[in-house]
Amino acid sequence: MTAPPFLEAKVQIALFSAKPYDREFFAAAAEGSPHEVRFVEATLSADTAPLAEGADAVCIFVNDRCDAAAANALADLGVKAIALRCAGFNNVDLDAAQDRGLAVVRVPAYSPHAVAEHTLGLILCLNRRIHRAYNRVREHNFALSGLLGFDLYGKTCGVVGTGAIGTCVVQILRGFGCRVLAVDPKQNPDALAAGAEYVDLPRLLAESDVITLNCPLNDATLRLIDADALAAMKPGVMLVNVSRGAVVDHAAVLAGLKSGKIGSLALDVYEEEEVFFRDVSDETLADDQLARLLTFPNVLVTGHQAFFTREALTAIAETTLANLSDVEAGRDCPNRVSK
Ligand code: NAD
Repeated sequence: MTAPPFLEAKVQIALFSAKPYDREFFAAAAEGSPHEVRFVEATLSADTAPLAEGADAVCIFVNDRCDAAAANALADLGVKAIALRCAGFNNVDLDAAQDRGLAVVRVPAYSPHAVAEHTLGLILCLNRRIHRAYNRVREHNFALSGLLGFDLYGKTCGVVGTGAIGTCVVQILRGFGCRVLAVDPKQNPDALAAGAEYVDLPRLLAESDVITLNCPLNDATLRLIDADALAAMKPGVMLVNVSRGAVVDHAAVLAGLKSGKIGSLALDVYEEEEVFFRDVSDETLADDQLARLLTFPNVLVTGHQAFFTREALTAIAETTLANLSDVEAGRDCPNRVSK
């Protein structure tokens, strides 16, 4: 007998890599919805896929690995959909997912403001050495030496990538009174309206006091900031990366820091982000390059937190469930990922 609609079982979602904040925002979004979210702390892999037993869909994040073996294991369990609660989908084997009939959906945009505001937070903190001042005054050291910054007003800032996030960065920088140069294969009318001047990359590199990377990782941007790019920059340049780690050649950047070519560096993303989103304070950091970067007083690293605002997490949870509703109903989903 078919149960009346109000008694029908809810759609079961196994959410991997669950953190306390995922529980909070997904539980709120699922309230009153036809979805029931089960939170799994483990990261998804072929080994942990059996934890999705009984689920109709899995929800995964950037460090989960849905390779062919994991996709096969999920499909064998009867899972029908993989919902990424992020924009990137490089961690999903799309061929394997398609072969096994698994729908893949993602959240392409949640809050460009969150990421853009963090970008500015990094620039301001690094420039005025607020990270150093914070620690210093707690030890009752109120000396100013080592904290000297520069006026952002009137400086030239280079924005690489003027999509949703980069355009917000342009708008905020213009509010500070900066001249903004931009590089993007596609000019954005909103960035132009905000006062960005589109130039080629060599000119942006040569003229910018601050360079912020807000582009996606693709064939053209892989190691875009390498030794040659650094050589073309102004001495003492501030470099900020909130895009993807591999846009930067970190070995070249380390050399640039040692030589003083790079005046300061802020990273919210890194190439090997295995330690990100985890507390490994009791362990030895195995990544020598990251460990070395963390020794510089003029380097500020945040662990992929630019997106991390209430508004963004609400949008991520709501969009993820809406994506799954589309898949379940057989509707076209604008956020479906295909090869
Ligand atoms: P978007 O798609 O709106 O914009 C990306 C822009 O980059 C587009 O205008 C595109 O034309 C441009 N671009 C592509 N190739 C380029 C190149 N070779 N040089 C310069 N520009 C190029 O994306 P978005 O929402 O603005 O996000 C941008 C990137 O920010 C994402 O791809 C992601 O890597 C990163 N991101 C980071 C976080 C974080 O928490 N740190 C959060 C979200 C997004």
